[in-house]
Amino acid sequence: MKLATFTQDDVTRIGVVDGDAIVDLAAAAPDLPRDMLGFLEAGSKALHAARAALDGAPRLPLADVRLEAPIARPPKFLAIGLNYADHVAESGRDVPEHPTVFNKQSTCVAGPTDPVHLPRASHVLDYEGELGFVIGRRCRHVSRDDAADVIAGYLVVNDVTVRDWQLRVPTWTMGKSFDTHGPIGPWIVTADEIPDPHQLRLRTWVNDELRQESNTKELIFDCFTLVEHLSTAFTLEPGDIVATGTPAGVGIGMKPPHLLVAGDVVRIEIEGIGQLENPVIAEPEDTARIG
Ligand code: ZN
Repeated sequence: MKLATFTQDDVTRIGVVDGDAIVDLAAAAPDLPRDMLGFLEAGSKALHAARAALDGAPRLPLADVRLEAPIARPPKFLAIGLNYADHVAESGRDVPEHPTVFNKQSTCVAGPTDPVHLPRASHVLDYEGELGFVIGRRCRHVSRDDAADVIAGYLVVNDVTVRDWQLRVPTWTMGKSFDTHGPIGPWIVTADEIPDPHQLRLRTWVNDELRQESNTKELIFDCFTLVEHLSTAFTLEPGDIVATGTPAGVGIGMKPPHLLVAGDVVRIEIEGIGQLENPVIAEPEDTARIG
């Protein structure tokens, strides 16, 4: 199933995408949680109930709803640096012995068509097309062999990066976490529909120029190895997202560098999942706030 979070008539809820239509789970299966985190926490029971509700359920045209980030506020938004050999080479680094794990703050999440802000604080803005996986079960100390059992599904991630803020200090947290710099989606494809997450073509375009073209078979540390590694240290929870790293072709790696500017559109497509298409806009004037 393609599990989506969508808004129609100012009400946000979850649904199942079927071709160019969506089944509103709030209508088709009213007992199910109305938000994706609650749905994922309800586990395989909720998945079965959703699947059972699809037959004969009314469908809304996908064009009539707005797709939101599938998970508005993941409990953790982890990402892996330097996880494709060609990207390691363009970054001028050595192939890592251990996964380079960092956090994107969960407040940076954006939807599959939402604008990405070119920040006032820096114009050194870059894209990173990545496969993400979503945790479906609370777990710890999961072996690589059991890792598939804790992955609910897969989505596309743009690990948007402010390069100068990323690289001027030893940790990447600030440069990876500006608001709007975590587009995810366009939905979560459940793991049963991705027979091998390590055989998926990944491509990124800026406007119509193809910038990244790779395959998840090139991952240095694959999804299952990452589950084992991460869960050695800490509990993974339903809704946690792990962005698995980007291949070669980021803007900073081009000669000369080709960074994002306002007006660009970044499109990332992963085979069997779908695509993100996010315009870049200047950070609006009204982002300062004290709640
Ligand atoms: Zn990345």
